[in-house]
Amino acid sequence: MRTVDLRSDTVTVPTPEMREAMYQAEVGDDVYGEDPTVNRLEELAAAKLGFAAGLFVASGTMGNLVALLTHTQKGDEVLLEAESHIYYYEVGGMAALAGVQPCTIRGVRGKLTAELIKNHLRPANIHFPNPSLLCLENTHNRGGGSVTTPQEMEKIVQFARESGLHIHVDGARIFNAAVACGCDVKELVKGVDSVQFCLSKGLGAPMGSVLVGSREFIAKARKWRKMVGGGFRQIGLMAAAGIVALEKMVDRLAEDHEKAQKLAAGIAEIPYLNINAEDVETNIVVAHLKPGVMTVSEFIGRLNENGVKANGYGAERIRFVTHKDVNNDDIDYALRVMSKLAQRVMF
Ligand SMILES: *Cc1c(COP(=O)(O)O)cnc(C)c1O
Repeated sequence: MRTVDLRSDTVTVPTPEMREAMYQAEVGDDVYGEDPTVNRLEELAAAKLGFAAGLFVASGTMGNLVALLTHTQKGDEVLLEAESHIYYYEVGGMAALAGVQPCTIRGVRGKLTAELIKNHLRPANIHFPNPSLLCLENTHNRGGGSVTTPQEMEKIVQFARESGLHIHVDGARIFNAAVACGCDVKELVKGVDSVQFCLSKGLGAPMGSVLVGSREFIAKARKWRKMVGGGFRQIGLMAAAGIVALEKMVDRLAEDHEKAQKLAAGIAEIPYLNINAEDVETNIVVAHLKPGVMTVSEFIGRLNENGVKANGYGAERIRFVTHKDVNNDDIDYALRVMSKLAQRVMF
């Protein structure tokens, strides 16, 4: 039986070129700053995003945590979207390890605006915590892969500057956002203080993220990374795959977006599912089960029986993520499975 894994773009496996680069990589002890391949990845990532320095971290979660630790003091308030990954999926690390207080803001499909942020930012007062940091997510995962455009970012950055807020961008899929906008990724992060992006999702590397920022910020972040156990040794083996990811795997993300469009168009024809196809902007497709047909876990179970994997997203939503390791035939197969299921559940 065919397997079509649409749970996440994290399931992508490294390309032969990545494996070759890993085999060939020149390595050293990165805690001493002596791994030339890591240094090359960090410089490349920083340059691509328009920052002075970069730091290779084990995961997106570690990149976000290290950014929070570097930007804030204990007891500070951090403004972020109510379903942002940092708040929703990072094990409460912001509270447990950074000791900061979240101020959550409900966005529109995960997107924040300067106006929404303004409404949540309280004036200086002896009773209130110090609001030091704003976190944004682009693309927004639980928002269904929604994109915040350079124009929208510009307004937010300007407001944050006037308000004395630093900005960290959780850009796990920032390259998907850039490809969707047709812009240079630099335009999406202009004026922010730090960005974390994942090498291990649509870009296909086996692990890792890079945190970028100013030289001073990254020097501090490097110490925090050491404290949380991320002082690597000959990790150039992994950085080598990351370099291939950055150099070779960005432009092809457009294909993932096309496959997401194809999947969304097919889902729109399936009687027991609802979808707003115009909300599909990148590689994430969110469908809603019509009430009373079956539960999300029953639906996912039935897909699984037919080799199709997806993730539940709350009480009636299902998330599908397209990536390099599913092709157009796989999408057709997944759609066939879903329409066959319609005959069983509807009639
Ligand atoms: C996946 C993801 C992360 C975390 O990355 P990990 O490598 O899984 O820790 C952070 N933010 C967003 C938006 C993500 O989708």
